[in-house]
Parts: sequence; structure tokens; C-alpha cells
Amino acid sequence: GSTIGVLGGGQLGRMMAQAGSAMGYRFVTLDPTPDSPCGQVADQIVAAYNDREAAKELAERSDVITYEFENVDAGVAAMLMEESYVPQGSELLYTTQHRLREKRAIEAAGVPVAPYREIGSEEELRAAAAELGLPCVLKTATGGYDGKGQWVLRSLDEVPEAYETLSKARTQLVLEQFIRFDKELSVIAARSPRGEIRTFPVAENIHIHNILHQSIVPARISGAVQLEAEKLAVRIAEGLGVIGLIAVEMFLTPDGKLYVNELAPRPHNSGHYTMEACRTSQFEQHVRAVCNLPLGDPSLLTPVVMVNVLGQHVQPLLERMAQPDEAAERLGTAPKVHLYGKKDAVHQRKMGHVNVLAPDIDSALQWIEETTIWKV
Ligand code: ATP
Ligand code: MG
Ligand code: MG
Repeated sequence: GSTIGVLGGGQLGRMMAQAGSAMGYRFVTLDPTPDSPCGQVADQIVAAYNDREAAKELAERSDVITYEFENVDAGVAAMLMEESYVPQGSELLYTTQHRLREKRAIEAAGVPVAPYREIGSEEELRAAAAELGLPCVLKTATGGYDGKGQWVLRSLDEVPEAYETLSKARTQLVLEQFIRFDKELSVIAARSPRGEIRTFPVAENIHIHNILHQSIVPARISGAVQLEAEKLAVRIAEGLGVIGLIAVEMFLTPDGKLYVNELAPRPHNSGHYTMEACRTSQFEQHVRAVCNLPLGDPSLLTPVVMVNVLGQHVQPLLERMAQPDEAAERLGTAPKVHLYGKKDAVHQRKMGHVNVLAPDIDSALQWIEETTIWKV
């Protein structure tokens, strides 16, 4: 069998390796943290992502290389392309690791993004905020996640402090119009080297403190919006020449317009519901795509709500799982618990997720409501 090398050893790599192992592939991951979530289920090279010697070793041991997070040095990715087979290339990484480049690429694919301005100085920020209107969102171009590196500007008085705070990141800044969305949606598309494209069902995402809390599928939207969201994801996958997965985060406004917020060229938290709820999971689909196998059927088997398990939820969840759960019996299928093998259950850290499969969304939401774990 072939070996798949994975840059990054987090939970996305872990679930990729679990899906791919079942298909007969071997996995080796490169990650600086020993015994990483992926390293627990695969071989691991313990080294920094941009350690060229370690990257070379990964290339020697792998028949195909992929990544599970997008902040891999594009230079290292380019080097890996010479040493091994990197079907996703380095261009997609280079584009999606920078918000301005990403927005331009999305627009070039004919897909709308929220109005934005590139910001190079405090004066530019003041002028752009006046132009786009308040509130608006200042973001660092690189390195942000879970809402880190962002400032919601509610008054022009905040301009100096916002500019000074985000400038410390020493990256370009971008100002976005604040979109008063009705819902946040995401679509994950897969594209293989032979050009085959499949999209997973649209997820409706609920964030708490900028961290994904729940993904609800089917999303509670019209069929027309559903089709449009899938169409935008396909346009992006084609326009950016994606190989593997592309996760497309979108805002849906009250008047039915869709704006793309950001992209991730990898499996995505909002696609974890696919593990039991779809005929093919996003992880299997990613392996299929990067290995140029025919893509799997992404269709939905059952309504589902995915709920994230953060550090503070782990202990209550384990206690709850040890108890008989009559409410779960009503669901028909006991909620599917996934934990990532991380040792330190730090507050707000993503430790796992639960897929609540149910005859309908309301029953799944009710189970989550009755299971008091998520009140903290
Ligand atoms: P992730 O962990 O998803 O990578 P991130 O740090 O890259 O997050 P974004 O996805 O850009 O950040 O923003 C986080 C959240 O903040 C969004 O899911 C949305 O709820 C809100 N948000 C971001 N930009 C805007 C905007 N222009 N208008 C309204 N809300 C926004
Ligand atoms: Mg992001
Ligand atoms: Mg996001």
C-alpha cells in the first residue's frame, strides 16, 4: 500500500488517517508536538513544520503529501513538490493563507465577498471605515483563527487603538463591511486531479465567541439558497483549481444574498457531521481526491447536529456517557462521540465533537439542550 504524508498532526490529520487507514493507506505526520492527535494513530516525525530536513524525510517516506492546516510555509510546500507528489500544489496554500489574496481569488472566480479595503495606515483605516460604514471588522491578513486577530470597529474613536493593536501582528490588514447575516453557512467541495467535483450538503453554523459551536444539517434554508451555496462552492473549487477539499464559509443575508467569508483548503470543523451522517465522510473524500480515486457519494443519510466539545465540556461529557441516557433512546441512534486524544483540556480548546443523529433537527437540538454539558 501507499503512504500518505500529512503536514500537521492535529485532529484533522487524525481523522484523515483514521479514514485512510481503513482504505489501506499508511500515514506519517510531521508535527512539533510529540504524541500529536494524528501521531497517536499514525507514524510521526517530531519537528517544526518549516524544518527542511524533516520535510525531506517526510517526502522520502511518503508517496503523496497533503496538509491538515493551511499555515505551512509555502516555500516548504514548494520544496516538497520537488521531492514528492503534492497534488494540492503550493499555490492554493499561498492564496488561502492570506485574506487579501484569498478575497481577490474568490472575486476572480465570480463569487461575491463582503465589501473590503486593504489597510496600510491609521489614516487609511479611518477613511475606509467611513466609506464602508460602522460597524466594520478589521482583520489581520494572515495567522488568524477562532476570531483571533480581529477587531469589530463600532466607532471611529476606536481607530487608533484597533490599528495599533492589530498592527503588532506585522502583517497586512483588511477592513470588511460588517454583514448583518441571518445565518452562517458552509459548503465543503472536493475536486480530484481528474476534475471530478462533489459537494457535501450545506451546513448551518452557529458560533459562540467566534468558535464553531454547532453545525446543523440540513441547514434551515430554502432549496434555492441551498443550490446557490453549492454553486458558489463549485465555482470556487474550479476557479482556484482546487485538488482535495475546499471549505467555503458564507454569510446569508435576510434578503437571500450570499457572501463568502473565508476558505480553508482542508477538512473543516463544519464538515465533521459527515462522519456518520453522509455516505462518504469529508476525510474519506479528501483521501480519495488527493489519491485520484473516484470521489464518493456525499449525500446525507440523516438529519444531524454536530456540537463541539471544548476543554470545559470533556469531564461532564465523560460522566454523562457513563450514565444510561433515556433521551438518547428517543433519537434512535446514540449520539456519536469523537475525542481527539488531546491531554490538556484547556478552557475553550477544541477537544472533540458529538454528532447527534436524529429523525429531525429539533429532536437533535432538544437532546443537546437537555444535556446540560454545553451550558458552560
Ligand atoms: P476560523 O476559526 O473560522 O478560521 P477566523 O478567525 O478566521 O475563524 P472569520 O471566520 O473571518 O475568523 O470570522 C469569525 C466569525 O466572526 C465569523 O464566523 C462571523 O461570525 C464573524 N464575522 C467575521 N467577519 C464578519 C463580517 N464581515 N461581518 C459579520 N460577521 C463577521
Ligand atoms: Mg479562518
Ligand atoms: Mg471562519
